[in-house]
Amino acid sequence: MTTDTRNNANNNKNEKYARLFFAIQPSKKIQKTLGQVVEKQIQHDGGRLIKPENIHLTLLFLGKTDIDKISALKTAAGNITAKTFNLTIGKTRFWKRNQIIYAHADIYPPELFTLVDAIKNAVQNAGFEFDSRAFKPHITLARKVTRHTLVDFQQPVQWHVKEWLLMQSRQTDQGIRYTSLGRWPLH
Ligand code: ATP
Ligand code: MG
Repeated sequence: MTTDTRNNANNNKNEKYARLFFAIQPSKKIQKTLGQVVEKQIQHDGGRLIKPENIHLTLLFLGKTDIDKISALKTAAGNITAKTFNLTIGKTRFWKRNQIIYAHADIYPPELFTLVDAIKNAVQNAGFEFDSRAFKPHITLARKVTRHTLVDFQQPVQWHVKEWLLMQSRQTDQGIRYTSLGRWPLH
């Protein structure tokens, strides 16, 4: 495991809790491509774009977490071994109830669900709690969208997923900002 100490949640001694989630995050190049696809849709349909650097797929949302427990969380996560997998993303979808446009992969391979189950088991055994709702993979690209016109990808995006991350979400003056507190390779 490598740790982004620069972004460590303990940097600010006044913070007692962190808003955390586990995620996979595509390369900057893929984030940019996905951002460009949805930008066209937003121009047409309205809504608020997710900043390209924030584009991710949430594996498990933990929410408010005591920062004193983050090292135990990372230890639990570090014991997981899981496999790499590929996602082919060729379309966007509209989730009307949540008013989002999200990127959708043709197939979500079993390795993804195995990884999520492994994370759930590991963090539960380490004493952490989370909502037990079913995992529905999606990559949010825009919010507050009320209608959706399909814009085809010129070429599907091929995302080779080779690591997963523990992310902290912070509200800042520049909007929501994510920082990674830990990352683990897939094999
Ligand atoms: P904002 O809430 O300002 O629009 P955001 O949703 O990107 O921004 P967070 O609310 O911190 O930021 O959420 C971080 C990630 O966790 C996002 O992928 C979000 O969809 C997911 N998430 C947030 N709340 C939950 C929840 N209760 N259950 C499952 N996933 C959640
Ligand atoms: Mg949110």
